[in-house]
Parts: sequence; C-alpha cells; structure tokens
Amino acid sequence: MFFNAAVLKKKGKVIIDKLSLPKLKFGQSLVKIYYSSICHTQIQEIDGQRGIDNYLPHCLGHEGIGMVIDKHNSVKKVKNLDSVCLSWINSKGINSGGTSYLNSKGIKVNAGPVHTFSEYAVISENKIFKIDKVDKQKVLLGCALPTAYNVIDDLDISKINSICIIGCGGLGISCVIASKDYRIKKIFAVDKNKTKLKFAKKNGANETFESLEEIKNKQIRFDVIIECTGQIQVLKKCIGLSKNFGGKIIVIGNYPKGNFLKIDPWHIIQGKSLLGAWNDTLNFDKKFRKFEKKTKNKNLNFFFGDKIYKLTDINKAINEFKKGKIIRPLIKM
Ligand SMILES: [Zn+2]
Repeated sequence: MFFNAAVLKKKGKVIIDKLSLPKLKFGQSLVKIYYSSICHTQIQEIDGQRGIDNYLPHCLGHEGIGMVIDKHNSVKKVKNLDSVCLSWINSKGINSGGTSYLNSKGIKVNAGPVHTFSEYAVISENKIFKIDKVDKQKVLLGCALPTAYNVIDDLDISKINSICIIGCGGLGISCVIASKDYRIKKIFAVDKNKTKLKFAKKNGANETFESLEEIKNKQIRFDVIIECTGQIQVLKKCIGLSKNFGGKIIVIGNYPKGNFLKIDPWHIIQGKSLLGAWNDTLNFDKKFRKFEKKTKNKNLNFFFGDKIYKLTDINKAINEFKKGKIIRPLIKM
C-alpha cells in the first residue's frame, strides 16, 4: 500500500511522494494522521537553517493528531483505534529511533521518531500521547501549547507581577494564553504584526507594543521576558529589559544554527537569569494531561486562520506561513 507524504528532497524543495509502509519494529506504532500543523522548526529544516542535513530525503512535521491503526506488540502505551497526539517531546515508552520508507521508485526516504506531514506515519512509542478524541485544535498540543504551558508552569507565579512575551506567533500566543490561565497580573506582548497583537490582546495581553524601542522609551522592566522570535538581536535587547535582582529571560525562539549570543556578564551579576523551556521533562505524560485539560475548553481555532490546507497544498501552506498570514497552518490529510 502506498500513501502520500510531504518529503524534503533537498534544501528548499518539498514534494509529495508516494511511500510504502514498512513492517513495524520494536516500539513502533502505525498512525493514520488526520491533522498536522506547521511550526518554524520545519521552515528552518526546509531552508537549511539547522546545519547540515544528513537525512535527506526525509519526512517532515512534529505536531499532529490521528488514530493508531497498528502497533508492534512491544508497545503498551496505546492500543489500536486510540486517538492520539504526536509530538517531538519525549515521554514514557520505548524510544524506537527513526524509521525509513521506500518510495514508489524504490528510493529510501528517512523519517525521525515522529513525523506528521503524511497520511500514515510510523511513530516511536515515546512520541505518542493518548487523547480523548480527535479535535483539530489538539494538534497544538504537539508543540506550541505544551512548550508555553511548561514555561509558565515552572515559574513561581507568586513572585511574578509582569511578564513580557516577544513575538506573537504560535508559541508567543500560547505563552499569552498560558500566562492568563495562571493569572499573571500584567501581561505584555510585542510583535510588529498588528493582527497578531490583536489576537494577543483578545487572549489575555493587558498591553501590546509594536517594537522593543517603545518599551525602552517608556523605561518599563519586566520580571519575566519570553523570547519567541528566534532572532538573536531581539534576544540581546530582551536582556536589557529584564529587571535586576531576579529578572528571568526565557529563551524559546528557534534560532538558526550558527547564531551566538554575546552578553555583558554584568547582567548575570545583577541577578538576571537566562532559562529555557525544558528544565525538567520527567514525567511529561502527566504534564501533557494537565495541559490538555487546561486548554480543552478554549477556542483556539483562530491559530489556523479561516482555512484548512490539503496535504497536496503543503507548499502553499508553507509560503503563507512564512509571510506571516497565519499563526499555524492546519493541514488535513
Ligand atoms: Zn514545533
């Protein structure tokens, strides 16, 4: 049986290929994918910004939902017909590593332990989360939502008065939503895109800015800054906007490989700290359930704009995403 999958053939070139299913190995499940969304990690992979790509040609995508239709008998976490969310985030279960498929011309196509831009996918047990039902907005639980919620969940909220989220794409908006959910008093959001700022405001931001200069001019300083743009120059400026004696700068944007941050050590001496999102991933299954529950009754369909792309329109979805037209393009298989 052949199925359609988006394959990165070489830098900048994504094609729809016909792949055949391999026999399932230790720790692997076969998932029929229903929906996937695109995040900036895939854009960086496509554009060759993540360093040398040793796996070309390969499958793409790391956030999706679907149904388990077959599994190796070693897999205990899910069973056939379970609705599942697929994520790059490690969790319980066997790490089966990546896989490979043969296309209709007999050429090998690689895939990581999770991939989602395809009608079917062989997934490693530690990349699968059972969900109660297939609801398209649950694709966001594969990447943006758990990252954002994990950042906010790790903070000592009682000590935080102000938070500033820089960049209001999928990750940034998710941080705004999570900050509001955890009742952080003052939520600020920055983006040069006015539509994205409107969404930030609608979903919990108390005040929005179109540039960091505006903040600098007003001399506002924050307890927590979350950098989501992936631009090293923006990150550098963020450090100056953080409060002394306990200010935290949380770095979760996607920076192209080879970008380095140069900072004045006095920022650290004055009590600022630089942190990431994943300070503790132990027992992520439990956290996943917690974040699934917290986001269950929210209407997050605005992430997808007003359209749903077909897998065969993947290049259109990628282009419109790159132009900033949509927060997260939704692909229906
Ligand atoms: Zn992602």
